[in-house]
Amino acid sequence: MPTYLYECPKCGKFDKFQRISDPALDECPTCSSPVKRIITGGSVLIKGAGALKGGDWDGKKAVEDYYRRQESESEE
Ligand SMILES: [Zn+2]
Repeated sequence: MPTYLYECPKCGKFDKFQRISDPALDECPTCSSPVKRIITGGSVLIKGAGALKGGDWDGKKAVEDYYRRQESESEE
């Protein structure tokens, strides 16, 4: 279950476990002020995966090559 981060103008930041299907909070559960949802690291990771699919970033292949090189060195 993902954790969503919210920011309340009175209480500050808090996070809340919600199902993906649950609607976003629009009121603070403590003081009923309007809150806004903060985009957390998860979305950044999804963006990163998208970039990978697009072929903009070859880091994964570089890491694989690195480990393959390590393995072949240790065999000798
Ligand atoms: Zn609040």
